[in-house]
Amino acid sequence: MQTELKRILGQNEWSRRDIATLLDLSDPADEALLFQRAYEVKRQQVGTRVYFRGLIELSNVCIKNCYYCGIRRANPDVDRYTLSEEEVLDAAAFAHRSRYGSIVIQSGERTDESFIAFVEHLVRRIRESTNNELGITLSLGEQSESTYRRWQAAGAHRYLLRIETSNPGLYQTLHPQDHSFHVRLEALRTLYRLGYQVGTGVMIGLPGQTSEHLADDVAFFKEMDVAMIGMGPYIPHHGTPMNEAIPDWSARKEEQLRRALRMIAVVRIQLKDVNIASTTALQAIDPTGREMGLQAGANILMPNLTDTQYRTGYQLYDGKPCLDENATLCAGCLERRIAAIGETIGYGEWGVSPHYKKKKQSSSALSSGVSPSRSAVVSGSPL
Ligand code: SAH
Ligand code: SF4
Repeated sequence: MQTELKRILGQNEWSRRDIATLLDLSDPADEALLFQRAYEVKRQQVGTRVYFRGLIELSNVCIKNCYYCGIRRANPDVDRYTLSEEEVLDAAAFAHRSRYGSIVIQSGERTDESFIAFVEHLVRRIRESTNNELGITLSLGEQSESTYRRWQAAGAHRYLLRIETSNPGLYQTLHPQDHSFHVRLEALRTLYRLGYQVGTGVMIGLPGQTSEHLADDVAFFKEMDVAMIGMGPYIPHHGTPMNEAIPDWSARKEEQLRRALRMIAVVRIQLKDVNIASTTALQAIDPTGREMGLQAGANILMPNLTDTQYRTGYQLYDGKPCLDENATLCAGCLERRIAAIGETIGYGEWGVSPHYKKKKQSSSALSSGVSPSRSAVVSGSPL
């Protein structure tokens, strides 16, 4: 395999088959070569500074019924909650004080006016109360263009919406008939057109997903020209229709983690200068999963800021880690873990991906007629 692996790593362009071969690597020595290459690309393209996005799990109320997710509407065993304005502002203030640079507000999906207005108000209040210093990412599912516009006008500038899989047929097996792949794709396109920094991603190791599907996902990320990728292993949740879909989960979960790490490495090598999150789902399988993600090419972490009394209520999958660790404990623990792998933390910085910065600079240079580097200096924005 080493000869084939070296042949692939020696090429600039990879075919679908090449990517599938890398995703199927099983020898730890082969994997180590792949991770080394990914780390080298990371070091050159985005550096070894990790950026934090403090995660606020706003609500577990959801109108959707995704077959894989623990907080789906039809799960009767979930104690539903929505954080109060004060609780959200407190979490944002913690992030600001701790110099996290930015936060992510994530939630089950709701499209009613009171929710839309609540989020709009929250975003405004957070911007005001942090002197416009805290970056705000939203991850609140599929919404109308006018809702995305309202939230953007209030001060949100990034949006995370995973496509889950770029294969429409596979997507349909994971969702009820009334969840449309095309609606999700259109939502991503709208966010991009509106000028959000768009993040997307997929679950890795889904039932029925092949390595070729994942290779197509990599091509999809390139085509969508996204600024950020958030991917993690699919992990069963006991209260969902897909719970039994991966037989013998405990024997297979280690491979599920390794496959996710190989996907992170492949995406880093192929997409080079985007932000890639090392997600909590990696840590749900192995306590050091997020560090492994950073070593496979990721550069973003999302420390959980949600008050511990709500964390058990926001379980998308089984085995969610840190259910009883408050944000202060999380911060200390993360700092140690990051130092242990020889990386540093980008305190007080938004951590915009070089990919998005370059795009911004070249578009403003085109409209202003000055060179890209000069236009960035002139605009003086945190972008
Ligand atoms: N409701 C919003 C945001 C919350 S869900 C949305 O769906 O976009 C955030 C992400 O959690 C989803 O995009 C999905 O990729 C992930 N997720 C849900 N259930 C999961 C599971 N069982 N295993 C791994 N990831 C899961
Ligand atoms: Fe709701 Fe998101 Fe879970 Fe789907 S994945 S059920 S939209 S929270």
